[in-house]
Amino acid sequence: MPDAILVLNAGSSSLKFTAFALGEDLSPIVSGLAEELSGTARFRAKNAAGEVVGEHAWSDDPPGHDGALAFLFAWLREHVPGMTVRAVGHRVVHGGATYAAPVRIDADLIAALEALVPLAPLHQPHNLLPIRLLAEKRPDLPQVACFDTAFHRTAPDLAQAFALPAEITARGVRRYGFHGLSYEYIARTLPQLDPRAAAGRTIVLHLGNGASACALLGGRSIASTMGFTAVDGLMMGTRTGALDPGVVLYLMDELGMDARAIEDVLYRRSGLLGVSGLSSDMRVLLASEDPAARFAVELFCYRIVREVGSLVAALEGLDALVFTAGIGENAAPIRAKVCAPLAWLGVALDEAANEGRGLRRISTEASRVAVWVVPTDEERMIARHVRELLSL
Ligand code: ADP
Repeated sequence: MPDAILVLNAGSSSLKFTAFALGEDLSPIVSGLAEELSGTARFRAKNAAGEVVGEHAWSDDPPGHDGALAFLFAWLREHVPGMTVRAVGHRVVHGGATYAAPVRIDADLIAALEALVPLAPLHQPHNLLPIRLLAEKRPDLPQVACFDTAFHRTAPDLAQAFALPAEITARGVRRYGFHGLSYEYIARTLPQLDPRAAAGRTIVLHLGNGASACALLGGRSIASTMGFTAVDGLMMGTRTGALDPGVVLYLMDELGMDARAIEDVLYRRSGLLGVSGLSSDMRVLLASEDPAARFAVELFCYRIVREVGSLVAALEGLDALVFTAGIGENAAPIRAKVCAPLAWLGVALDEAANEGRGLRRISTEASRVAVWVVPTDEERMIARHVRELLSL
C-alpha cells in the first residue's frame, strides 16, 4: 500500500474524507464520511470502485468531530494496512483577502484563520476543528489549508468591490467568491479539452446544493456570482441567491425578524426548497408535476441565464460554457433550459450529447460557444495542492 495524502472536508455535522495514493495520478484509495456527528452518528467508507468497505454506527454518545477524527485514523490503520498518511489537506471555506493560495498550517495560520470566523460563521469554525485537533494530537503530520476563496483573488479590484462607504469596505466587506477549488480543477482540466477556451473566455456553472458561476479569462477567475458570503448570486437548494437588501430591512422592520431568523430564511428556507414548498433536491422537482415545483425549476434556470449575461459582459465575449457539480453534471433538462435562451450568444446544444454521461462536449460542431460537462473533483484539487506545496 502506497503512502497517501488524506483530504478532509469538515462541515457542521459531518466529516468527509478521501485518501489519495501519492503518485503522478493521485488515484483515490478510499473515501467516505462520518455524518450526524451530534446525533445518530454513522460512518461509511467506499473503495475506489465505489464498494462499501466499512460501516459503523455510534450507539451511545455522539462522537462529535473529535471522536469521528479519532475513529477515522483508527479505521484507516486497521482497514487499509500499510498505508501511511504523509500529509493532510483541508478544505477551508475562507482565506480572507490575504490567502490567494494554499498554505502549510502552523499555529500562526490557525490564529489567522480563526480571525476570519466572522466572515463565514456557518462554515469556518467547523473547517478549523480537525485542523486544531490534528495539530494537537499529530504535530508531526504536515497539514495544508486550501481555501474556497483563494482562486478568486486574481479578480480585478472592480470585481471584488461593493459600492459601500470606504470605512465599511476596509473592514473586509467585499466580494470574495467561493467554490474556488472546483473552478480551479476545471481551469486545470480545460487546456486538455479545449485549448482555445482555456486560453480565452469561459463561464463555469457549478450547480450543486450550493450554486455559483465563475468567469475565467485565460484560466484565471475575473468575476464570480458569490460575494461576501455564499448566499449571493444564483438561486440554490435552500439559499436565496442575490436579493435586494431592502428585503432584509423589510423582514426586520415589518416582520420583526432578528438576524438569526433572517439567516434561517436566507440560507435554509429559500431557494428550490422555499419556492417549490416541496424539496431542495433537483431530482424530486424535475419528477414533479406540481406547478410550484415547475416554477422553482424555471426560476433556477432563469437566474442562471441572467447571471451568465452579466459574466459574458465582464469577459467581453464567450468561448465556452462548462456545467459541473451535482445538477450541472447530471440534470440534462436543466442544461437544456439554460442553453436555449443563450442561442443569441452562439450556444447550440447537441441534444443527444446532452443526454449522455461523463466528461464530454454537448454543443454541436457548428456551435460558436463550446458547451462542456466536466465532472468536478475538489478533493483531488486539494490533494494536488498538498503534493505541490510539500513537494511530496
Ligand atoms: P453539494 O453542493 O452538496 O456538493 P452536489 O454537487 O452533490 O451538492 O449536488 C447536489 C444536487 O445535485 C441536488 O440538488 C441533487 O438533486 C442534484 N442531482 C444529483 N443527481 C442528479 C440527477 N441525476 N438529476 C438531477 N439532479 C441531480
